Amino acid sequence: MDKDLLSSIQYIKGVGPNRAKLLSRIGIKTVKDALCYLPCRYEDRSSVKKIPLLKAEELNTVTGRIIKSDIITPNPSRPKLKIFEIVITDGNGILKAKWFNQLYLKKIFKTGQEVVLYGTTKYNYRGTGLEMLNPEYEILNEENGQNSESNEQKTEGIHTGRVVPIYRSTEGLSQKQLRNIMHTAMTVSASSISDPIPHEIIKKYNLPGLKESIQNVHFPEASVSIAELNKGTSLYHQRLSFDELFTFQLGLAAIKKKEISERGIAFSPDSRLINKLLDRLPFKLTSAQQRAFNEILDDMKSPAPMNRLIQGDVGSGKTIIALMSMLAAVECGYQAALMAPTEILAEQHFINIHRLVENLGLNIQLLTSSRKTRGTNAVAPGDADIVIGTHAIIQEGVSFKKLGLIVIDEQHRFGVMQRAMLRKKGINPDTLIMTATPIPRTLALTLYGDLDYSIIDELPPNRSPIITRLLYESQKSQIYKLMQDEIKKGRQAYVVYPVIEESEKTDLKSAINGAESLQKISPNLKVELIHGRMKPADREEVMKEFKNGGIHILVSTTVIEVGVDVPNATLMVIIHAERFGLAQLHQLRGRVGRGSSQSFCVLLCYGSTNDSKKRLDVMVETTDGFRIAEEDLNIRGSGEFFGTKQSGMPDLKVANLMRDVKILEIARKEAFSLIEGDPLLNMHPQLKTAAEDFWRGKLEIFKTA
Ligand code: ADP
Ligand code: MG
Repeated sequence: MDKDLLSSIQYIKGVGPNRAKLLSRIGIKTVKDALCYLPCRYEDRSSVKKIPLLKAEELNTVTGRIIKSDIITPNPSRPKLKIFEIVITDGNGILKAKWFNQLYLKKIFKTGQEVVLYGTTKYNYRGTGLEMLNPEYEILNEENGQNSESNEQKTEGIHTGRVVPIYRSTEGLSQKQLRNIMHTAMTVSASSISDPIPHEIIKKYNLPGLKESIQNVHFPEASVSIAELNKGTSLYHQRLSFDELFTFQLGLAAIKKKEISERGIAFSPDSRLINKLLDRLPFKLTSAQQRAFNEILDDMKSPAPMNRLIQGDVGSGKTIIALMSMLAAVECGYQAALMAPTEILAEQHFINIHRLVENLGLNIQLLTSSRKTRGTNAVAPGDADIVIGTHAIIQEGVSFKKLGLIVIDEQHRFGVMQRAMLRKKGINPDTLIMTATPIPRTLALTLYGDLDYSIIDELPPNRSPIITRLLYESQKSQIYKLMQDEIKKGRQAYVVYPVIEESEKTDLKSAINGAESLQKISPNLKVELIHGRMKPADREEVMKEFKNGGIHILVSTTVIEVGVDVPNATLMVIIHAERFGLAQLHQLRGRVGRGSSQSFCVLLCYGSTNDSKKRLDVMVETTDGFRIAEEDLNIRGSGEFFGTKQSGMPDLKVANLMRDVKILEIARKEAFSLIEGDPLLNMHPQLKTAAEDFWRGKLEIFKTA
């Protein structure tokens, strides 16, 4: 990028220090920031309607002069209801416009002003004429007051008579002011924009020029379809999405290239331990499990470090694959570590794995931060063959003798950045990452773009789909009935609450109260409570007892969200289901349906919003993780869905991972092939700067270490 583009926005005509402050609130500090700040939508103001030609229920633009402006009280018996209204004339007819709850407009609109109104026309309540309700507006010739913009840009051609961009703005900065700033920024900087993308790629895919694209996403030419603009799929949007995804993928490609070039361990396992384990399993691996494990073994045998992602929906049996891989490492005299996102899950893995390999003579240790603070022998996993724990495993002060394999469970909480941290610590073991987040392959490639990828697309046999019911508070008694039924059959139930304790801030039901009242209602049952604030030893005790069937109902918070595996539990009740996200609901539901008997999930809902209703409906409709993930993406947007915010990945500003899958594929292919021939982008200095800029503060990928 040219220096001009990096100069402060303050020096653009019409900005100054005060507006610069406002702009920085929406992330615009430099001219370049402004160019990259895309409209959130567009309005077609290209054709101004004559007032007499307006029809009801249409979205229209009109312009005219204000002949009256007033606050009115339409209903004398409700004196508090006040409406601001203006009347305008365009020389052909007159039109009334009304705004509710915006009395301050009285200070803004003055008779004599020329205004543009954009909004839906509706019949007035008598049905005698048309009016506009809460229209968007612009005042074309403000004459007095601090709002004056008369010495700024000409307004014609920017704000009306065309498709105009609408930006997300901030208080104190009107659409019109912001639009003027954008226009100026673009006009003065156009000549500084130079295109970093290699010419061959531009030619191959027939991409429009960068400058042309930036101009058109802000102030589109008349020929560009407004529908495409609003969807973000215009040719020009696509070009900018490509650039963003391409720079993104360049980073991932560079990481991967670096990883591959590093020396890892070439394991040569003899299957001695693995076979013993397989012998004592009560089931046979599914063919999908077998395939995934073979892929892992191949990686482990090769001298390049393994970086593989195993994706399998909840209940597909990832844990056993992880254990087999760890045994492969142990067979070769290395240590293996399994890292889980929560203490509870780490504890559970510890119990399970302990049980499975009990007689193999292995030393297995548990390492979590609360254990560490309790001072037990946690800091040096010295003699352990297998260490199971939380993030504590990779923290300061923990050192392994000979760590050969690290397995990261439920990776959606553990991103590229954390893995890079691992390597920074000088640990360069094979890495296996397991996730239940069932995302489409191409999308997985974005978040986990530097990884190889295996999928377990088959559930163990004899699983019948979980039956899910949505209940409201008044139907609560059905839950007790269902609970009794299941418990009579010898099964167990989970009841999950959004919070541990009641608090003044919310009126959410809590796990502590829930457990108490459940115990009261059913004195003959054993009800236990588990949550994140308990002492790990107590928690472990409860989990163990639940697993052994000694507890009928386990009341908990979302600490049991991921990974917990008790096949005899067949009922999951989620209290305040409307408060949970789809991914979370899917994970929670995945705690049941893990054995061969029919399982149930009850979503108890206390009032719902549009979004939460949508989520709950999806849950009732399907148990297919892929569909749920897709719906989730639609409802929530990709950033939150992928947990990219947590994992610290760069934000995508233009591209949308659902919408732009095709562009992503191309960008990925081209980025990887470019890095193949020029790993540090030394032959493409401009591109290198662009990629470094994009990944700034995240990873120093192009630095030779
Ligand atoms: P997840 O993929 O969600 O981590 P788990 O590894 O916890 O799933 O496995 C879910 C349950 O399925 C466990 O009780 C496990 O013992 C069982 N299981 C795993 N593989 C098979 C198989 N091939 N056949 C039958 N049961 C299996
Ligand atoms: Mg699991």
